[in-house]
Amino acid sequence: MRQAITVLGSTGSIGRQTLDVCRQMGLQVEALAACRSVDLLEEQVREFCPRLAVLYDMDAAAELARRLSGLPVRVAYGMEGLVEAASLPESGTVVTAMVGMVGLQPTLAAVRLGKRIALANKETLVCAGELVMAEARRSGAEIVPVDSEHSAIFQCLQGCRGREEVRRLILTCSGGPFYGLSRQEVWGKTRQEALRHPNWAMGAKITIDCATLMNKGLEFIEAMRLFRMPPEQVSVVIHRQSIIHSMVEFRDGAVLAQLGTPDMRLPIRYALTYPARAESPAEPLDLLACPPLTFGPPDREAFPCLGLAMDCARTGGTACAVLNGANEAAVGLFLEEKIPFGQIPELVQRALDRIPVQLNPGLEDILEADRAARQIVCDSRRGG
Ligand code: MG
Repeated sequence: MRQAITVLGSTGSIGRQTLDVCRQMGLQVEALAACRSVDLLEEQVREFCPRLAVLYDMDAAAELARRLSGLPVRVAYGMEGLVEAASLPESGTVVTAMVGMVGLQPTLAAVRLGKRIALANKETLVCAGELVMAEARRSGAEIVPVDSEHSAIFQCLQGCRGREEVRRLILTCSGGPFYGLSRQEVWGKTRQEALRHPNWAMGAKITIDCATLMNKGLEFIEAMRLFRMPPEQVSVVIHRQSIIHSMVEFRDGAVLAQLGTPDMRLPIRYALTYPARAESPAEPLDLLACPPLTFGPPDREAFPCLGLAMDCARTGGTACAVLNGANEAAVGLFLEEKIPFGQIPELVQRALDRIPVQLNPGLEDILEADRAARQIVCDSRRGG
């Protein structure tokens, strides 16, 4: 039987690349879900013929249903629709590629049903990592990371007999478009300048997170949760070329790295085929054509978001949900050109200062921390 999958966030960058892989491997797609892109979702439904199509936005879903009437596909909407897509019994693997907190509840639903999660929604692990991983241990759900750094670490850990053998996880970081600049120099950078990433083509939110280094901060937390490592055993190194996707240092001093061209379809394919590897049509890495590989320390002075995230990782509880919620709201304002680039870390800091941390939070506490953080960022805009 062909492997059947659900793609949450199918119209975004990771979602579209996932469908490239499905097309190439002939995988059966059971459900597609997106936020509000009617045109693209319609096109995807016509090509992949899923049994369920979901748009989070109700009006967009009504329009999609109108356009698809007569086809054997059901259209649903809202959080309920997303959770239903994540829970379809016909689908054994759920690719979670929605951006932001909206991905949390559908991911949890799939985890509780013991499905394989190809995890591309880092906010899920950042905000509710302990909860999600505990549910996964209970249900036996396999969580295979799609984020390139975590996929690299996951691959390097194959054959590892236990966490006690690992000395350190080393996350590589491209440094983003403003690498080498001072805090003053990055302060007034525009949306257009921040959206120009040197190595990867990605969605807008994550591209801004790469420019502030918040993306690496979120990945730091994600790595701790996924691989159950304390913060002291996770480190970040600037590697401008994005050829080494991350590394693991073992207790005997051996360092394993995973290398490849910067193409997300590699980690996506691996998350779908793990523990097997499938043939890929992608250009192989040409070592002789590679630029020299360089490494350096991150500049936490110029890019305070990285340090903020590392502090939250140490604090735990709802701190990471506040960090993430404030960051999503601040990046939203920056993308609407309502605040300067340099204000993103300041607004995140403000939310962290004002919201008390709650340890051992449940799902409701996490959602509340997220909401409160967004509120503080929006109120700051009105001079609050
Ligand atoms: Mg990444």
